[in-house]
Amino acid sequence: MMNCPACGAIMVWLNGSVLHDPPTKFYQCRRCNINVTKLADGTIESDQPEQPAQ
Ligand SMILES: [Zn+2]
Repeated sequence: MMNCPACGAIMVWLNGSVLHDPPTKFYQCRRCNINVTKLADGTIESDQPEQPAQ
């Protein structure tokens, strides 16, 4: 499970499942629409677009 670094919401895990647990995991926040990549060594990379006007 991953919490969004921007808003703290639970992020959606895009490329995994119970049966498929890839070393590099992609998450997306449905609240602020940012993508986060968690690498095999635990490094977290956030691909944060410009904040949309809300
Ligand atoms: Zn968020």
